[in-house]
Amino acid sequence: MLINEIFYSLQGEGRLAGVPSVFIRLAGCPLHCRWCDTPYAQNVSAGTKFTKEWILEQVNRYPAHHLVITGGEPMTQPILPELLKVVRRPGTHITVETAGIMFVRNLSCDLMSISPKLSNSTPANPTQAAAHERLRLNVQALKDLLRHYTYQLKFVVDSQGDLDEIVRFVEELPDVKLGLVFLMPQATRREEYIEKSQWLADYCLHTGFSFGPRLQVMLWEGQRGR
Ligand code: SF4
Repeated sequence: MLINEIFYSLQGEGRLAGVPSVFIRLAGCPLHCRWCDTPYAQNVSAGTKFTKEWILEQVNRYPAHHLVITGGEPMTQPILPELLKVVRRPGTHITVETAGIMFVRNLSCDLMSISPKLSNSTPANPTQAAAHERLRLNVQALKDLLRHYTYQLKFVVDSQGDLDEIVRFVEELPDVKLGLVFLMPQATRREEYIEKSQWLADYCLHTGFSFGPRLQVMLWEGQRGR
């Protein structure tokens, strides 16, 4: 199985923020977002082949009952269903992180954590930008994911100009509970994170969206492996 990295940290985002978790990062993502915080995992060649036994050995090193399969974009990786079966143990909670660009049925996961990409994430490279715009919004896949899995939706908010786009986006999806939609400040530095959190928190209080922390920025400013 091709894996980019396995590490132990706190879940930084969403409703499980703060929970100690083992992260298994797969390699490969077609979106190439402008502010991607894991550019080193965008290419499939960033994955190294490991055995199932080795993966389980790594997971079992840590005192965590929560696993997070992340990327890259896990949903585009054919190994995902089998990987989930390999790491599934009694009492384990598994989150799959995805941009919601593809629907895969019958995955053994407890939480589908969907982070659709807004127009603020379009990369500068024209070829990558064209692919990003073609792929980033798949409304049918999103509807299927919401219908078939326990979910949360997360949006990275760069500026107040993004908020109308998020409202329009959510309105296209049936029966989404606003409390399951997390708005998170886009930032790489702590100061920027705190500044954006102020107005974003006010907006959440005003509208009913949930404010989404990003502990990995607040605590470690996005250091790799944290
Ligand atoms: S979808 Fe996620 S992993 Fe893929 S480029 Fe965008 S931020 Fe990076």
